[in-house]
Amino acid sequence: MADTTYDLVIIGGGVAGYVAAIRASQLGIKTACVEMRGRLGGTCLNVGCIPSKALLQSSEIYEETKSHLAVHGVGVGNVSLDLAAMLGRKDKVVEDLTKGVEFLFRKNKVDYIKGRGRIAGHGRVEVALEGGGNQSLTAKSICIATGSESSPLPGITVDEKRIVTSTGALSLNPVPGHLIVIGAGYIGLEMGSVWRRLGSKVTVVEYLDRILPGMDGEIAKSFQRILQKQGFEFRLGMKVTGAEAGANGVKLSMVTAAGGDAASLDADVVLLCVGRRAFTEGLGLETVSVAKDERGRIKTDRHFATNVPGIYAIGDVIAGPMLAHKSEEEGIALAEILAGQAGHVNYETVPGVVYTHPEVATVGKTEEELKAAGVAYKVGKFPITANSRARCAGDTEGLVKIIADAKTDRLLGCHIISADAGTMIHEAVMAMEFQASAEDVARAFHAHPTLNEAVKEAALAVDGRAIHI
Ligand SMILES: Cc1cc2nc3c(=O)[nH]c(=O)nc-3n(C[C@H](O)[C@H](O)[C@H](O)COP(=O)(O)OP(=O)(O)OC[C@H]3O[C@@H](n4cnc5c(N)ncnc54)[C@H](O)[C@@H]3O)c2cc1C
Repeated sequence: MADTTYDLVIIGGGVAGYVAAIRASQLGIKTACVEMRGRLGGTCLNVGCIPSKALLQSSEIYEETKSHLAVHGVGVGNVSLDLAAMLGRKDKVVEDLTKGVEFLFRKNKVDYIKGRGRIAGHGRVEVALEGGGNQSLTAKSICIATGSESSPLPGITVDEKRIVTSTGALSLNPVPGHLIVIGAGYIGLEMGSVWRRLGSKVTVVEYLDRILPGMDGEIAKSFQRILQKQGFEFRLGMKVTGAEAGANGVKLSMVTAAGGDAASLDADVVLLCVGRRAFTEGLGLETVSVAKDERGRIKTDRHFATNVPGIYAIGDVIAGPMLAHKSEEEGIALAEILAGQAGHVNYETVPGVVYTHPEVATVGKTEEELKAAGVAYKVGKFPITANSRARCAGDTEGLVKIIADAKTDRLLGCHIISADAGTMIHEAVMAMEFQASAEDVARAFHAHPTLNEAVKEAALAVDGRAIHI
């Protein structure tokens, strides 16, 4: 049994873990990263951000070619779908990117240990190696970056065929006639979009009376209308009580959230998408008594330290939005803290993006949050239909909404529905990072004609000075 000594052993090679490993190595910290999946990149690269965006891109091209080219004067013959090729392309994108991370490990001299890691004591990690046998590692610091898994729902048994999580929804074949999505969060709406574009009827069942919980209410309402126009059906305020999978489909039973009438729906496939929970199974946390919160997440302080000296945690396994870029920033910050630098994450400016069409992107406070906190604010809005570039593209749905402090004019939030909103939002992220005012954004040059002119106009509108409405 080999015995290897490191400055830092990271358990989990997802975005949090692999980015922390690379940054730590760059800073001269001798680092090993233990990953049990057989591939680096975690949920994000293997079964999350990347394969879902590959399918969103392909399905958007399919729908665009089929239904939206004639208006531009472009005629195409019969458009057909080769689903196997589309899924194969997605798999190739994933494979290339995960191999890319392996290359970065070699380049940065991070030791990649394939197997399941378990904390065996202070400064000790035991790895059940992929190829059999164990390896014992000793480390000055241990970082837990074991991520998250799909949350279960009582009454629903996932088989990844008829009743699937987001992982199964990335590989459905054939296209389901009727897809029911349980949960109106961003993952459900993205995967619902993929399969609707490819021909499924999509019904979204949600316990709450709104979609995209946590996002600005006005934006969520407006986005729901857009999705309904695209053909999405919503059953809001419904509590799913069970699902019975048979040879030909699934019968989903539910009652109104208030506990009233029962109803049922038949589907070819049901996608369970009610959120994700921290994953710490088999990690040996009890060996050294690492504390968790009431939701099973590892408790840390602002420097990612757990209650046990020498053990840190980052990414989806700790509190905060379960997003890849949040995990990455925590990985970088932790590595810099361990190297004696001032690593820091500004949680006030974490953007969130829904990669549907149009996209929804958001950063900072919502109106609901500011009202609850008693903060006086001003709002400026600009409709995308009044933006000249959107007109040229024939893609005019959505709006930009900017929220600024009523007294100081400081930018507090920005919420966008638009094609490319996920790119546009970074203007607001940067402005907020530098504590800009709405007037700063309004006075900055914005090239014409660009979609970002809608952000400028919304910033002007905060003070009633928009030009093009
Ligand atoms: C369908 C889907 C789409 C998504 N889209 C987006 C998006 O567009 N943008 C975005 O920002 N976020 C997105 N996310 C969220 C994003 O994937 C996560 O926030 C991110 O992956 C979290 O990174 P992490 O490193 O903390 O955890 P993970 O990526 O989950 O990685 C943890 C890794 O640890 C490994 N592991 C666990 N236990 C052990 C152990 N004991 N020993 C060894 N290895 C272990 C796991 O195998 C896993 O590979 C999406 C998620 C899903 C499911």
